[in-house]
Amino acid sequence: MLVNGREILAWAVARRCAVASFNTYDLELTRALIAAAEAEQAPIFLAAGAGALEFAGFTLLSAVVLAAAEEATVPVAVHLDHATHPALVERAVAAGFTSVMVDGSALPFAGNVAHLQAARTAVGPWALEGELGGVGGSEDRAGSQHSEVPMTDPDEAAAFAEHTGIDSLAVAIGNAHGVYKGEPRLDLDRLAAIEAVSPVPLVLHGASGIPDGLIAACIERGVRKINVNTELRRAWFEQLAAGLALDGGRYDLPAVFGGAMESVTGTARSFIRLFRDGASGG
Ligand SMILES: [Zn+2]
Repeated sequence: MLVNGREILAWAVARRCAVASFNTYDLELTRALIAAAEAEQAPIFLAAGAGALEFAGFTLLSAVVLAAAEEATVPVAVHLDHATHPALVERAVAAGFTSVMVDGSALPFAGNVAHLQAARTAVGPWALEGELGGVGGSEDRAGSQHSEVPMTDPDEAAAFAEHTGIDSLAVAIGNAHGVYKGEPRLDLDRLAAIEAVSPVPLVLHGASGIPDGLIAACIERGVRKINVNTELRRAWFEQLAAGLALDGGRYDLPAVFGGAMESVTGTARSFIRLFRDGASGG
C-alpha cells in the first residue's frame, strides 16, 4: 500500500532501526524491489531520482512506481530523490508521491534553508528530506567520490531542521554515491554529534560498499533511512550479462530479465535485513 513517508520514518524510529530506500529506473527494478519488501514483510521507500524520471519519462515511471506501491502488500512510500527544481517537486506531489528529498546542499546555508522552506509548502503533509553538507559522487553512475565536499556541521544541524520543517536530515560524514575507492571512512563522532542535536531522524546516502559493521554503527547513531542505488544496479547488470551469455540466441526476454530481477530482489532483501535486524543473514 502507498503510505506517507512520515509513517515509515516513524516505524524505523520506533524500532531504532533503519528503513531501506531503493532507487528504481524502470518497471523491472520496481517489481524486483517491491518483491523484496514483500518477502521480508518490511516497509520501504521506493525512490525515483530526477535522472531516472527524465530517462524513463516522468508520466510513465511515476505511474509504474505509484501503481506498484498501491498494489504492494507492505507499506511503500514513493520518494522523489535529489530534486533541485521546484517544478519537479510540485509535479511529483501532484502525481501522488508521498516523500520528497530536496537537495539544496550545493547552496550556502541560508539558500539551502530558503529552498527547503519553499519546498515545505509545496510538499504539504508528505515527508520532506533535506541535506546539509555534500554527498559526493553521482547518483546514476558509479563515479568516484570527492573528498573535498563539505561534511555536515553539527552546530548547524539543529537550526537547519527547525528553520526548514524537514522530516529527516541527510548527512555528509564521508559517505559518497557510486563506488568507494578503498575502504570508506565515515566520521562516526560527527554523526553522534549531529544525532545529539537533530530533532529529526538522519538519512545516509551512498550506502553501497559500506561494510556491515559500519552500517550498524551508523544505525546506532540515529540513521533511520539508508539509500541504496549502486549495489542494485550492479546486481541487475551482472545477472543480465550472465543471462545474456546463457541465452544462446533464443532472445528469451522473460527468462533473462526475470533472472536479473531475482538477483536484484536477493540483494535488496539482504539490505532490508541488515538495516532492520543488524545482520544480512547471508
Ligand atoms: Zn543520494
